[in-house]
Amino acid sequence: MKILSTALAAVVALAAALPAAAQEKVLNLYSARHYQTDEALYANFTKATGIRINRVDADDAGILARLKSEGAASPADVVLLVDAARLWNAESQGLFQPFKSAVLEQRIPATLRGADAGQGSQWFGFSTRGRVIVYNKLNVRKDDVDTYEELGDPKNKGKVCTRSGSHPYNLSLFGAVMQHLGEPATETWLKGVVNNMARAPKGGDTDQIKAVASGECQIALTNSYYLARLMRSSLPEDRAVVEKVGVVFPNQATWGTHVNIAGAAIARHSPNLDSARQFLEYLAGDSAQAYFADGNNEWPAVPGVKTANPALAALGSFKAETIPVAVTGANQAKVQQMLDRVGYK
Ligand code: FE
Repeated sequence: MKILSTALAAVVALAAALPAAAQEKVLNLYSARHYQTDEALYANFTKATGIRINRVDADDAGILARLKSEGAASPADVVLLVDAARLWNAESQGLFQPFKSAVLEQRIPATLRGADAGQGSQWFGFSTRGRVIVYNKLNVRKDDVDTYEELGDPKNKGKVCTRSGSHPYNLSLFGAVMQHLGEPATETWLKGVVNNMARAPKGGDTDQIKAVASGECQIALTNSYYLARLMRSSLPEDRAVVEKVGVVFPNQATWGTHVNIAGAAIARHSPNLDSARQFLEYLAGDSAQAYFADGNNEWPAVPGVKTANPALAALGSFKAETIPVAVTGANQAKVQQMLDRVGYK
């Protein structure tokens, strides 16, 4: 026992004597993304920088809970989350820190970043997704569902199904609608959507697409990548779903389709700040952008970067809204109050 503790003390003393530069550089990454192509994304970063990545995988809510409970002792350097509603929430809870980067300011459009009060943004979008409308091709005319507004029109009574109104994807969309239409019109619209529901809100986006295909309802909302995933599936049951469903990018004649992001931020108490900064700038590079977006059938955030994704090619190009995603995040508290008032569960 005595010998062991002496040996241990010697090892500890030796480690302390090593100059900092000789110690391995690391990056602690808390990620809500788990895609196969991300492995290559991380391996390429380590190859280019010598920085080893320690990954903690959890869902978005789990990551936020962990950051909060760890507090100032958190080893997290970079946090990957999806949807501006969640990124905005985490920022407002003081879980991130601002990062001023000429690279990110040049590469990532300002509408896809957190607000910048002069110190830099606290989060940056690295891929984009659209919130699209799907409809049953047999029973619904595309003309009747080519705007978000029509989801609340009495002509679509009994046809609409959605996931929970309080899910971040819907909070962000409704926050965008509030920005475009104003508060009173948005609350009236939400009431109309509730009146049009074929059933109470439940399930995830893929469940809504399947409900449209099965005829349980006729019209639904989904993030574009869930549809793209079904389009790329080789399972016969997924192929059958895709055949029955039409897709529309809403509001092409007006303010454009609501677009959201998957994004990254530097954790408030990041112990490896230099690694964190390098990683965020790495994510904005051309090949990292392509890996990041393609891993989840999304579009790169950096304009001009291409992916070879057959489902996205089939969906085609569309007019996206131009309001900052940070604004949709900030509107979520007001939207939630509206949902409570109109009984949107
Ligand atoms: Fe998702």
